[in-house]
Amino acid sequence: MRVRFWGVRGSIPVPGADTVRYGGNTSCMEVQLPGEDPCVLDAGTGARLLGRELLGRKERGVNLLFSHFHLDHLFGFPFFAPLFAPSFRLHVSAPGFSPDATRDRLGRYLNGVLHPLRMPDLPAPMDFAAIRPGIPFQRGAYQITAVQLNHPGGACGYVIEGGGRKVAYLTDTSPLSRPGEGLSGGAAPNGREIALTKALKGADFVAVDTMFSENEYLEKMTWGHGYPEYAAALCRHAEVKTLALFHHSPDATDADLDRLSERWAGGYDGMRVVLAREGADVDLEG
Ligand SMILES: [Zn+2]
Ligand SMILES: [Zn+2]
Repeated sequence: MRVRFWGVRGSIPVPGADTVRYGGNTSCMEVQLPGEDPCVLDAGTGARLLGRELLGRKERGVNLLFSHFHLDHLFGFPFFAPLFAPSFRLHVSAPGFSPDATRDRLGRYLNGVLHPLRMPDLPAPMDFAAIRPGIPFQRGAYQITAVQLNHPGGACGYVIEGGGRKVAYLTDTSPLSRPGEGLSGGAAPNGREIALTKALKGADFVAVDTMFSENEYLEKMTWGHGYPEYAAALCRHAEVKTLALFHHSPDATDADLDRLSERWAGGYDGMRVVLAREGADVDLEG
C-alpha cells in the first residue's frame, strides 16, 4: 500500500516563497494498493495535480472520500481531471443522510454561481454513497470505516485496510477530550477516544489534523482543529506505527515546519512522527 500527499495545508491555499518545501495546496491524500483504483481523501487544491497524474495511469476508477465539505477540502474538485474524462468512473463517499443528499451538497459548489459548471455538466459517470461512522464498507480491495470526528458542522475520518496494511486519515478534528481530561490530560481515554483508538488499532500510518500548537488550541477550542501532542497521545495509545502531522496552518512557513519536524524527530514513545509534506510518497510495502 502506498500513501501520497498532494495537499497538506488547512483552511486556504498558501502559494509563495515561504511554503515551497512543505507545499501550499490544501488537503488531498492518496492511498493505493498496486493495480487497484486509488482512494482519494478529500479534494482540496492538491487534487488538481493528482487528477492530471491519474489520466496517465491505467486504472479508470477513483474512490473519492470526503471528510466534510468545507471549502479547503473541496476547492480542487471541479479541477480534478478525471471528472472530464468519460472513461473514468468516480465513486464518491461522504458523511450524509442519503446518496442524493451527498450529491446535492457537492452541487451547492458546482451550481453555476460559485463555479461556472453545474454537476450535470461533468462528463465522467459518478455514483454517490452516504457513509455512516462505524459501519465498514468495501470499495474494491479496500475495507473502509468512517470514524466520527470533532469539528463544527461534523466531519468524518477514514480507516482504510487492504493488502495487509492499515492507513487512517483524521482531519479536521479537535481533541475528543477536554483539556486535563482523557488522553488530553495524560489520563485514561474517554468513551469517544476508546472507540477511535479501537478503530485505529495497530495502523501502519495515520495522518492527523495538527493545525494548532497546544497554546493556540486552548485559545481556539471551538474551531475544530488539533495539536501535535494530542495526536501523538491518541496514536500512541492505538499503537500506531507512524503518525503524520497534517493540515498545517496557512501561517506556518517552511522554517516553522522545519522546527516542528526537528522537535518530533525522535518520535514519541517508540512511535515514528513525521510531517506531511506535499509530494511525499510513503511505501508501506504490503
Ligand atoms: Zn480543513
Ligand atoms: Zn473543516
